[in-house]
Amino acid sequence: MIHRIDEIALPPETGPWLLPGVTKDVIGQAPWLRPDFADAEVPFLASHTFAVEAGGPRVLVDTGIGNGKTRANPAWNSLNTDYLARLSAAGFAPESVDLVIITHLHTDHVGWNTRPDGDSWVPTFPNARYLTSRAEWDYWAATELDANRLQMFADSVHPVRDSGLIDLADVPGNGRQVAAGIRLVPAPGHTPGQIAVELRGADRSALITGDSIHHPVQLSHPHLVSCVDIDPEQAVRSRHQLLDTLADTDSLLLGTHFPQPTAGLVRRDNGNYRLHPEPGIAWRCRTGPPGAVGDPQRPADRCEVARTGRCRRVPAARVTGANTAPPGGPPPGCRQAPEVLRHSSRAWCPGRARGRRRGRPRRPRRQGPRGRWT
Ligand SMILES: [Zn+2]
Repeated sequence: MIHRIDEIALPPETGPWLLPGVTKDVIGQAPWLRPDFADAEVPFLASHTFAVEAGGPRVLVDTGIGNGKTRANPAWNSLNTDYLARLSAAGFAPESVDLVIITHLHTDHVGWNTRPDGDSWVPTFPNARYLTSRAEWDYWAATELDANRLQMFADSVHPVRDSGLIDLADVPGNGRQVAAGIRLVPAPGHTPGQIAVELRGADRSALITGDSIHHPVQLSHPHLVSCVDIDPEQAVRSRHQLLDTLADTDSLLLGTHFPQPTAGLVRRDNGNYRLHPEPGIAWRCRTGPPGAVGDPQRPADRCEVARTGRCRRVPAARVTGANTAPPGGPPPGCRQAPEVLRHSSRAWCPGRARGRRRGRPRRPRRQGPRGRWT
């Protein structure tokens, strides 16, 4: 079972800065992006963690920006979100997390590695191992860091290392399994040692992108790169490789920065690809069979809130409580599904998502500072 733990929706100026090739014309060529992934001019992006119950270890993939971190990017500076409450509400109290997989060592993927404790930073997940690729670690260890990166490593990476919680994985070209149903896949380019994370359950599989695919527009335009890709040509090759692997299969693509609906199936389209959001999972009941992905301890009649074309609006407290069935049992139409994508935010409802966007400016107000997305 996979949960999306929301941190923040990134401000609208992020898209044009991060993906300068994504023009109004490019968005117009992929009408399927609207309204969920873009408006007529600007691609939307988000920051979240994927939390995975795999029947074995309890796993987080990437830890967002974090609270209280001093950052050059104003949108990331000194955040104060209720991320940890959402994580706990989804059943992932910090002490219960066994494994934190970090796709790459950029600021918006390591933030919740640590939390403040007086004047210092301590691991947020004290009982977890933190895992990233050795190639990624070695790259940054050999790189002269600017002040912003030094700050990030000092508050979000080194405290974990100094606590002895970091593990480094050698990830060969064909990937490396690190737990039942969890495999690291090399996805270099954005950073030299970036990994994507493949999840394989009894009935479904999924791939978490990291920043190998920042936005769904890169399915229809895989050649479009981000302004912070360290090796743009390699990033394009990795993106093509991942998309080719997923295309026309029933394996879900889970975008680390995709706004809602974050998950979908990859389909070939005019020589490239498009994303088909996973349909019809407004309320699904787990049957509870143990599989590589799923929690066999969870009663079979519990239901989750997810996305559908017929979204049900759900009181916030109920949804953020654990996304379980409301009092009185599952709603009409609840059906059995062996595995679900489960979400921690009521904003998954597409109707609500569109409502939120009406308040957004249609044009970016300022260009983000190049180099600050680190
Ligand atoms: Zn990122």
